[in-house]
Amino acid sequence: MKEIIYRIINFLILIALIIIFGRKKISEIFESRREKIIKALDEAEKTEKTEMPTFDPESVSPENVSISSKSDESEFVQKLSGIEKSEKETCLEMRREMLSEIRLEAINKIKAKAVDMFSRQPYRSMLSSRESEMAVNMLKSIHLTPGDIAYLKTHDVLYVTLTSAYPMPDNVVKQIGDYTEKMLAEIGGKTSYWVKQDPSLIDGFCLRIGDTIYDCSIKEELYRLTEITQKEFLSGDESVDDILNTISKDIVNMGSRVHTYQLGRVLTVSDGICWMDGLADIMYGEVVEFECGEFGMVLDIKSNKIGCVIYGKYEHIESGSRVRRVGRIASVPVGDQLLGRVVNALGQSIDGRGIIRTTERRPIECHAPAIPERAPVDTPLHTGIKAIDALVPIGRGQRELIIGDRQTGKTSIAVDAILNQKGKDVICIYVAIGQKETTVAEVREKLEKYGAMDYTTIVCATASDSASLQYIAPFSGTAMGEYFMYSGRDVLIIYDDLSKHAVAYRELSLLLHRPSGREAYPGDIFYLHSRLLERSAKLSEELGGGSMTALPVIETLAGDISSYIPTNVISITDGQIFLDTELFYEGQRPAVNVGLSVSRVGSAAQTKIMKQFSASLRMKLAQYRELAGFSQFGADVDEATKKTLDAGKRMMDALKQGRNRPLSDWKQVLLIFAVSEGFADNVNTEEIEEFENNLFSYFENVRTDIKNRLETGKKLSEEEIDGLREALNGLREVV
Ligand code: ATP
Ligand code: MG
Repeated sequence: MKEIIYRIINFLILIALIIIFGRKKISEIFESRREKIIKALDEAEKTEKTEMPTFDPESVSPENVSISSKSDESEFVQKLSGIEKSEKETCLEMRREMLSEIRLEAINKIKAKAVDMFSRQPYRSMLSSRESEMAVNMLKSIHLTPGDIAYLKTHDVLYVTLTSAYPMPDNVVKQIGDYTEKMLAEIGGKTSYWVKQDPSLIDGFCLRIGDTIYDCSIKEELYRLTEITQKEFLSGDESVDDILNTISKDIVNMGSRVHTYQLGRVLTVSDGICWMDGLADIMYGEVVEFECGEFGMVLDIKSNKIGCVIYGKYEHIESGSRVRRVGRIASVPVGDQLLGRVVNALGQSIDGRGIIRTTERRPIECHAPAIPERAPVDTPLHTGIKAIDALVPIGRGQRELIIGDRQTGKTSIAVDAILNQKGKDVICIYVAIGQKETTVAEVREKLEKYGAMDYTTIVCATASDSASLQYIAPFSGTAMGEYFMYSGRDVLIIYDDLSKHAVAYRELSLLLHRPSGREAYPGDIFYLHSRLLERSAKLSEELGGGSMTALPVIETLAGDISSYIPTNVISITDGQIFLDTELFYEGQRPAVNVGLSVSRVGSAAQTKIMKQFSASLRMKLAQYRELAGFSQFGADVDEATKKTLDAGKRMMDALKQGRNRPLSDWKQVLLIFAVSEGFADNVNTEEIEEFENNLFSYFENVRTDIKNRLETGKKLSEEEIDGLREALNGLREVV
């Protein structure tokens, strides 16, 4: 008992000693650590202060911006010297974004200032002195449009309204009334003439005949000028006052300009679809502008109303508000500036890197090249994927469908194909339709990681975008691609995926009250996809020899490739790569089903050497799949069958390939030759990757002569094949 008590006392004494001496030590350690941390923080702050650029947003307000994107930017870049390149880019992007916002704000100020300026003297008296001259000019420009004539045939009378900001002299009002009456009487119609006042015109007047407006008002003049200056302003070097000066000078010197346009009226708006009347001569596919500033595209013209899809938000569009014809078919910006960017279906930047300044636009709907303008597909477009380049080769200008159930690696194939175009002078466009935003972000990240964004544009209409944007996204992407194709370059465009595009079009069509046909899709869905895919082509030499290769993606349900949309797209394209769920789960990736995949352009798009070695491959693999199907029921197979099965299995193993690892053509040829000649007979499934690596490094480092020969892509002679066999035997001995 005593012993235990002594032990406890000893133990307590020991702990007390440790606490007394240890505490000092511990607090010393903590103290020194704290000091270290404070010091590090101080240092970090100092470096931040000295190295980070000082960018004061206050210094650029809408009032005083000498909005100088070009001159100031070089100064700003100088300030940034010494910091890392990526940080420098971010700072520059932030600055550009901020300046564009400030400029947009400044444009509203310009509008308000101009309205104020022109309602006062001396402009007021200057403009009123021009009224009769303007009226004469306006009358000269009047002409009846086909829409007006058609209206007169059914209604007999056409409404003519003269609206002015201030009361007009009686003689001018009478002159206009008489003129229009006489003009309509000539074709057997009558006028109903109205005179109104509207101070919102600021000054001047406008005449409405039917749906057409002949406008001599300051309101219209300002609308046009700000439209024009907005474009210059956004990319220019001028200040708010400079621009106001330009506008006022322009209006003083405008003489008596007459602007002609057509107006309509909103009837109903729902689910992104707007029905309108008026707009007598509108064309299919034309852009209209709503009063709130949103734009739309005409997709339906009926005798009494016009249906259009709205690009942006439609909550602010009111029934009865005005719509005007913009006078152009829906188009998107095109050009080299789009490379490396992520844009929406209208070609506007959505990657937070500021406005994209392009000089050209192309209509989103455009005629496909005619037959004489096309050349046969004869140049390969290597995807770097063994199973595709060997078995279903793709040529430049071809349309090859990637089809399969969900999660079978469709997007991966498309992205790998883009990665493999690095350094091959092929521009890539990835159109994401109805995808999740995360999927698109992943694709972008991957492309950026492997340096493929430099030659790629991502056009993105995600699942959260309106059906109208999803509908036009592939057309916009194609227009961007066509710009490069017609300038003689090669383009690879991926539509991921067209099943979702079909669904978006179905939604629009049903909302536009079009009758549905098979599987509830509108009858013209086939035409929609054919006119999209027909635009991919290889152009003839006279047109520059450019090409656009399309890889549309279609998602099937439970492997059913005979449903409506898959059969449609299969018949439009020049072949398909069918991805099999079963193969995918068996571990065969990419899960290309050799039996159902085909390339109708075929070996014309292969190098001679690949053609030489892969010719019999397809047949052998199809045989293997068939035999494998039978042999799984019974264990007993004869020697010959077993041999075929083994060889087939080994070839299937060799065709496996991980993501983001594209292989060059000579490596693919070498591997296929080695495996089909039985050099991999003793290699297990797990070891095939190691075998591949050994093979490639042996030819890269030891037999460079053969490697160089294979790289030429020309057919091998018998002696050369023997030489290759010998080299492979040599490798076997080394390993
Ligand atoms: P979704 O139908 O959702 O669009 P998808 O058919 O486009 O899918 P992916 O997103 O490309 O399929 O790929 C699905 C999964 O399969 C991914 O997790 C991917 O990592 C994997 N995968 C695809 N190809 C390969 C490959 N060659 N090797 C290994 N894994 C792969
Ligand atoms: Mg996908």
